[in-house]
Amino acid sequence: MAEILVLVDHADGAVRKPALELLTLARRIGEPSAVVLGAGEAAASLAAKAAEYGAATVYVADGPEFDEQLVVPKVDALTQIAKDKGVAAVLVTSSGEGKEVAARVALRLGSGLITDAVELEAGANGPVATQSVFAASYQVKSAVSHGVPVITVKPNSAAPETAPAAGAVENVSVAFTGNAARVVSRTPRVSTGRPELTESAIVVSGGRGVGAAEGFAVVEKLADSLGAAVGASRAAVDAGWYPHSNQVGQTGKQVSPQLYVAAGISGAIQHRAGMQTSKTIVAVNKDAEAPIFDLVDYGVVGDLFEVLPQLTDEIGAR
Ligand code: FAD
Repeated sequence: MAEILVLVDHADGAVRKPALELLTLARRIGEPSAVVLGAGEAAASLAAKAAEYGAATVYVADGPEFDEQLVVPKVDALTQIAKDKGVAAVLVTSSGEGKEVAARVALRLGSGLITDAVELEAGANGPVATQSVFAASYQVKSAVSHGVPVITVKPNSAAPETAPAAGAVENVSVAFTGNAARVVSRTPRVSTGRPELTESAIVVSGGRGVGAAEGFAVVEKLADSLGAAVGASRAAVDAGWYPHSNQVGQTGKQVSPQLYVAAGISGAIQHRAGMQTSKTIVAVNKDAEAPIFDLVDYGVVGDLFEVLPQLTDEIGAR
């Protein structure tokens, strides 16, 4: 069966959820194997987790290079393993770093690259990826016609499913190519205790309709009742009401959660570009003519300061 190589993203000694989604999707197009890089002592538990989600083999590589440099050591490792094992495809999470790794690996392999896939299926000549393009107005199916397909997949594209496999660990000694750019320091972001915006299964976003920075309290309360991340429109970010790191849209982050709640957001094309692939979209807006209502699954015409607290109370009561 075709071997599908999955790069396992991890943080704080745990596998990140998008990696489990990749392993689940990999099973639709072949037999997954996993690559765990720079995990130190956590490598064994990460490998066990990858095996639980279907990895027949887990390639493990370690070394200070993974900490001291940016993406190049990962590119070295992934390219080397893909070549040595003759894999049929390489899957990477569609994060900023993931896309850089994937592009560099594709270049080194002389292969085609597909980014931001939301679905994968087996085709006659290799994996077929579905992408959402032109601000999610169209869905396009693409296949790589040259070399080993390298595909980045958006978080939340599949629900992770376990499928225990052998998970045979193979330690790999990587021939690092070296890099002039070195990491000088890392500053962890101050945690809000909420899920990461791009990975969260639920996102609740506020827009100009929130009216002020203090207005985001109702958005945050609803988000917390749902275990969701908080997003914001550019109008709210430009007004200084919420950090830019939470902006959703063309010049913000791309999210694709199971549930997206837009409160006080009109639905401009640039905002839609960042959230239109969400599985279920709910909008709360007091203007029944707001364009956001053209794309929602559920719309509430009303004042968000009345609707959101009622929703939060209702969820809390369940
Ligand atoms: P508005 O369009 O002002 O909408 C506010 C909505 O709130 C209205 O529909 C109103 O009816 C409703 N409302 C008001 N009060 C209430 C209330 N009490 N209860 C319920 N509803 C209420 N935008 C992004 O979001 N992300 C981007 O990444 C982005 N990138 C851009 C890039 C470029 C190059 C450009 C030109 C623009 C970009 N924009 C982006 C801006 C975008 O065009 C819109 O201006 C922006 O999305 C509008 O934000 P909004 O919906 O919050 O505000």
